[in-house]
Amino acid sequence: MTSAEKQTIMTGIDASPGIAIGEAYVLRSREVSIPRYEIEPDRIESELARFKGAVERSREQLLRVKEQFSGPEGLSHIFDAHLLILEDVMILEETGRNISEHRVNAEHALRMIVDRVMDVFKAIDDEYIRERRTDLQVVADRVMRNLLGEKQETIQRSLTEIIIVAHDLSPADAAQLDRKLVMGFVTDAGGKTSHTAITARALEIPAVVGLENATSLIKPGDLLVVDGCTGVVRVNPDPATLEQCRQQRGEYLALERELLRYTDLPAETRDGYELRLVGNVELVEEIPSLLAHGGAGVGLFRTEFLYMNRTDLPDEEEHYRIYRSVVERVAPHPAVIRTLDLGGDKFAGPFNLSQESNPALGLRAMRFCLRERELFKTQLAAILRASAHGRARIMFPLISDVSEIREAKLILAEVREELDARSERYDPDLPVGIMVETPSSAMISDLLAPEVDFFSIGTNDLIQYTLAVDRGNEQVAYLYEPLHPAHLRLIQRVVEAGHAAGIPVMMCGEMANDPRNILMLIGLSLDELSMNSLAIPCVKRIVRGTTLREAREIVAQALTLPTAEEVKGFLQEETDRRFPGVLP
Ligand code: PEP
Ligand code: MG
Repeated sequence: MTSAEKQTIMTGIDASPGIAIGEAYVLRSREVSIPRYEIEPDRIESELARFKGAVERSREQLLRVKEQFSGPEGLSHIFDAHLLILEDVMILEETGRNISEHRVNAEHALRMIVDRVMDVFKAIDDEYIRERRTDLQVVADRVMRNLLGEKQETIQRSLTEIIIVAHDLSPADAAQLDRKLVMGFVTDAGGKTSHTAITARALEIPAVVGLENATSLIKPGDLLVVDGCTGVVRVNPDPATLEQCRQQRGEYLALERELLRYTDLPAETRDGYELRLVGNVELVEEIPSLLAHGGAGVGLFRTEFLYMNRTDLPDEEEHYRIYRSVVERVAPHPAVIRTLDLGGDKFAGPFNLSQESNPALGLRAMRFCLRERELFKTQLAAILRASAHGRARIMFPLISDVSEIREAKLILAEVREELDARSERYDPDLPVGIMVETPSSAMISDLLAPEVDFFSIGTNDLIQYTLAVDRGNEQVAYLYEPLHPAHLRLIQRVVEAGHAAGIPVMMCGEMANDPRNILMLIGLSLDELSMNSLAIPCVKRIVRGTTLREAREIVAQALTLPTAEEVKGFLQEETDRRFPGVLP
């Protein structure tokens, strides 16, 4: 860097928290130039063999990096997803067909099918789908490079602290990172649920993704400051800014160290009210980080991940292996496994769902499972079997009516009988709960409570349905407000109904991640908060520094305020006064 270089500020998606400072290490763009030529009929067989060979080489390479991977145990699951793409029958067969029928070279034949799948994906505006598109691209690039005889790019050893700048960072790239030198990631592609983001969080490396043009704007050797909490990346900051960033980094690390002191302490208020702080998890690989941050179990294991990157359905064994691994890894703590919540803003995976004009109000979650019974029963059987190995709980999403939970329980009873007939073991007292995430279920929570063992409030959806604000629509994001009085009143109602029936009430929406909301949630008497693992120490500090009595007083006052803005300001002030420096 020279002093003449100007500071540039780029803003992307905050994918993994923390502040990193280092030299840019720019990985070459993934663009592969793909030749197109016709092949003679007598070369079809050898072209097919060439394609097969490249797939096989790609497979061996991925298996090798998976073996050599030194990241958190089990993160190699992501490699399995990529290996599965390499086995995708549709892609393999279609490429073969393109070679034979169109008489084109293997590179172009593969390109034709990948482009077609990408076009289908593109038409679906959904974060999960966008990410799976990237996975397909990463794998296709690898096969292409093998066809072209290019070397796969690896990160060379470096002597300074570096920030990786890449179009996207595949798990294979991540596997080769030297944790002592790689301070952060910055990528053009990706969103919060991209594999890059998940990898970064699991490795606890600050990352900003979705910058779109980082690889073209950042040059090798540029000095970078990556703020994974705000999504801001500074390129070649001036000396004064750099100094300020160093100071911020120091403060962040000090706060993190200070908060980690709470890891092994109970989440108990000063007057003895004990909350359970647990984690939202999508991958088994995230569990070590959850436990390291003091999580007392898994409060929400989202199972949609199992259906990604594939065109077939997971069978009972595959479900079982994953759920068993979850319950065993969190033992002796419990794990709440949520049944498939497909549809709405969730990707369609291997399912051929018809286009709906209002997918959030359509055939999603339990509605879909009650329609697709065999698929639902497969998942229930696997969760039940996993319960023989630890403390599993089952949770049904998007319940809006008592009859739905009754029907789901009847199916569960059927599955138990089938398991009995197969002499499979399971926990006969496996707790069964529901997510309260529609205004209807909140309003009839007193009628739902006797039917279940626990409630878990899914605020991500409860807010969208209560306030009529699409959770993924940026145009109306300013209206999406957890502290809206209507939402708060529904939460209060659900907690009261649950407690009147003697069942615990949890919360697993993003609302529980924000330290600003915690005094409110304690005062509302929630029993358990499930959140991003990294948020647990900070939330614990707030819980341990307050009393239930004062939190209840805060709630009483907050509930008299007419707007979300006012509630937010009030909670901010109360939190800042008690815990200076905790809020960003
Ligand atoms: C919720 O709706 O709050 C929730 C936790 O579920 P999801 O975000 O998966 O819809
Ligand atoms: Mg939900």
